[in-house]
Amino acid sequence: MIIHPFGGGVASAHGLGKNHLGGKGANLHEMAGIGLPVPPGFVIPTPVCADHYAAGGTLPPALLPEIAAGIGHIETAVASGARFGDADHPLLVSVRSGARVSMPGMMDTVLNLGLNDATVLGLAARSGDARFAWDSYRRFVQMYGDVVLGIDHYLFEDALEYAKEDKGVSLDTELDADDLKALVAAYLGIVEREQGAPFPQDVTAQLHGAVAAVFGSWRSERADVYRRLNDIPEDWGTAVTVQAMVFGNRGETSATGVAFTRDPSTGERGYYGEYLLNAQGEDVVAGIRTPQYLTRAAREKAGAKAASMEEALPVVYAELAALFDLLERHYRDMQDIEFTVEQGKLFVLQTRSGKRTAKAALKIACDMVEEGLIDQRTAILRVDPAMLDQMLHPTLDPAAKRDVIVRGLPASPGAASGAIVLDSETAEKRAAMGEDVILVRVETSPEDIAGMHAARGILTARGGMTSHAAVVARGMGRPCVSGAGNLAIDMNARSVRFGGVELAEGAVITLDGANGEVMRGTVATVQPELTGDFARLMLWADAHRTMAVRTNAETPADCATARSFGAEGIGLARTEHMFFSPERIVSVREMILAADEAGRRAALAKLLPAQREDFRAIFGIMAGLPVTVRLLDPPLHEFLPQREADFADVADATGVGVDVLKRRNAELHEFNPMLGHRGCRLGVTFPEIYEMQARAIFEAAVAVAQEAGVAPLPEVMVPLVGTRRELTLMKAVIDAAAEAVFAETGVRVPYLVGTMIELPRAALRAGEIAEDAEFFSFGTNDLTQTTLGISRDDASRFLGVYVDKGIYAHDPFVTLDVDGVGELVRIAAERGRAARPGLKLGICGEHGGDPASIAFCQTLGLDYVSCSPWRVPIARLAAAQAALR
Ligand code: PEP
Ligand code: MG
Repeated sequence: MIIHPFGGGVASAHGLGKNHLGGKGANLHEMAGIGLPVPPGFVIPTPVCADHYAAGGTLPPALLPEIAAGIGHIETAVASGARFGDADHPLLVSVRSGARVSMPGMMDTVLNLGLNDATVLGLAARSGDARFAWDSYRRFVQMYGDVVLGIDHYLFEDALEYAKEDKGVSLDTELDADDLKALVAAYLGIVEREQGAPFPQDVTAQLHGAVAAVFGSWRSERADVYRRLNDIPEDWGTAVTVQAMVFGNRGETSATGVAFTRDPSTGERGYYGEYLLNAQGEDVVAGIRTPQYLTRAAREKAGAKAASMEEALPVVYAELAALFDLLERHYRDMQDIEFTVEQGKLFVLQTRSGKRTAKAALKIACDMVEEGLIDQRTAILRVDPAMLDQMLHPTLDPAAKRDVIVRGLPASPGAASGAIVLDSETAEKRAAMGEDVILVRVETSPEDIAGMHAARGILTARGGMTSHAAVVARGMGRPCVSGAGNLAIDMNARSVRFGGVELAEGAVITLDGANGEVMRGTVATVQPELTGDFARLMLWADAHRTMAVRTNAETPADCATARSFGAEGIGLARTEHMFFSPERIVSVREMILAADEAGRRAALAKLLPAQREDFRAIFGIMAGLPVTVRLLDPPLHEFLPQREADFADVADATGVGVDVLKRRNAELHEFNPMLGHRGCRLGVTFPEIYEMQARAIFEAAVAVAQEAGVAPLPEVMVPLVGTRRELTLMKAVIDAAAEAVFAETGVRVPYLVGTMIELPRAALRAGEIAEDAEFFSFGTNDLTQTTLGISRDDASRFLGVYVDKGIYAHDPFVTLDVDGVGELVRIAAERGRAARPGLKLGICGEHGGDPASIAFCQTLGLDYVSCSPWRVPIARLAAAQAALR
């Protein structure tokens, strides 16, 4: 037997697999194999496709009797008495393609095959619906004419339009049976004119023609292109499935619907779905009629009148409900089922894993472990880590109406509504009065931190996914939309223009940080719940992962949040973020603008106690967990005074004239600050800065060790190292500060000194650098910027086009460019470990919270990933999945 029949208790090729049966054919056999009532049919397997081409594009003669036998199987299995080509009780079939992998829309399908001038009358009489019969025939002639006979489909479409014009109506549904009968005559005329022969009335000839056409579509131009783009070999071929058509529109005992085996939005056990009595699937999709509830309970809960399926078709409903358990036991997942009831007989057309919300995904995974359907491992692998974002931020009510005024990048997830404020000070003031505000800026700088903290959300006109606004907002868990190109801010008029809409400061807007939309007014939100299932799955994940998960945090609040989400240490505390509070900024500027070392030391002395207190707080919260403190790394321009008042403040504090300060300021101007005097270059030129910071770290560590009795684990990290010598010099400064503090206090604490690897040179020379470094932390934000030569703050202007054109598969600032940047990370890891076995390796760029990048880190055997507090649960799950895979 060449063909493989299924349905009516038969699953002849169950287990033969997709390569032989095609994806669709294999699914149908699997469904038939577990006893689901699928409409019967047969599969002509993929190898026949090659035979067809070998025979010069005609069906192999041996296939013809088999097709006849297949039709015989369908006639027996439908058990309704319908026969293929029978004028009184016709059987109709569909003919579909199906390759090993799905190639959506690439190949051809023919529906309602088996209709002709005689059988259409039988169908009309049997169904009691002449309009339905003639409409089916009309569709069939058009589809067959187009797909099998190669007649331009617009000829049919034109004829349909004329028919509607003649009648003076605009919708297809307004044509009655007689109109459609006339239209069929017109269609048959078109076919005869175009191909010089009448439309085939012999149903067997129709079927042979359709099978040959489906095989032919495997080598159609569009399929060829698709195969080339997706690396699908031509010799795979397609299978052909011939299957009985079933109709849900044959009276009040017929219906069509969709069902889920559990509630896809909550995950609750219980049947869930919709159906329409006496309708075809199309009627549901077209939204012409409102679907009714599946269960009586759901109908009553909604206060709906129209009978539920449980009430209208109780026997079939019971049959369907019994299938749900069968399906879940077999597929071991929540299923989304399409079904049709034809005159009281239930058919399952399709079943697949149902889409679900994060909340439902967690509940279903946990419940199924409890029910013994899946193990913990499967549960961990089944929840998409990226989805957990939904659980960690308030989100917009999906049912709420949106008046979108501008779009930007989805820089930090969550939703926020509030009044527009245009500067940080206003944000703080109005927030202090209890108002919800959204900080709207061209771009943000570290000076805006307080305002960003005060705001509910942040919107910027410039900046990409790793711009300051984006990084800080994610760290704080504030929703942020960045790089909204159509946003213009007028600081004089204190207003904002969103394309055509102008809004004054104080007007209320809403941000959706999950998709980058900005709406006018307030949009209702729903509060996330950290349910027990969430916590449970996280613990299972922890038991399976091998990489630790740390956080990027420097404020006590963020550290505490991260710990509550399960962070196992700090992978990056950016100390420059500690320098921007209003009390400190003057001393910072004093330090930078100082004319000599003595001036700098005087300013640093004022900062030391504040830094020490910062570190004390962090070490206290992290209670013995490792804390990586990065020494100062600001692009200098972010610190420099901008306004007259700023200069006056520094002049007051130092006694140096404003003119002198301005001159010094001008000298410090840089054309390309990201590649300028930042990172350890600051420490190399002004070692006293790192000396002060190191002292603050060790004084704090000693104090906490004495007070709390648990020694903190400081890991002092030097940024932007490119050569070993830079690290050698900085390590000497750090070690000297440590020894000085230990000598003064008589207490020693353990510590490590290491470096960020965030320049290509550092990655390549990692072998030497590891001689001095006790750990590496991959700063993949800068490493991406410097490897690709793309500014992280300016990328948003063109990167979208680059992704659209497939130049980069993803935004490389979000998902690590494994081929380029990843190669450097691999080289650095290998060379570093070769020089220093046991070298601790981590990642602290934004990629540390991205599941695909985390999977790559696992392949390199990194010790930990570090990400913003709000992504810690995502990283825990992603790391577990990476380890399990
Ligand atoms: C990095 O460059 O990846 C990094 C973590 O440092 P920053 O983002 O502060 O430059
Ligand atoms: Mg960096």
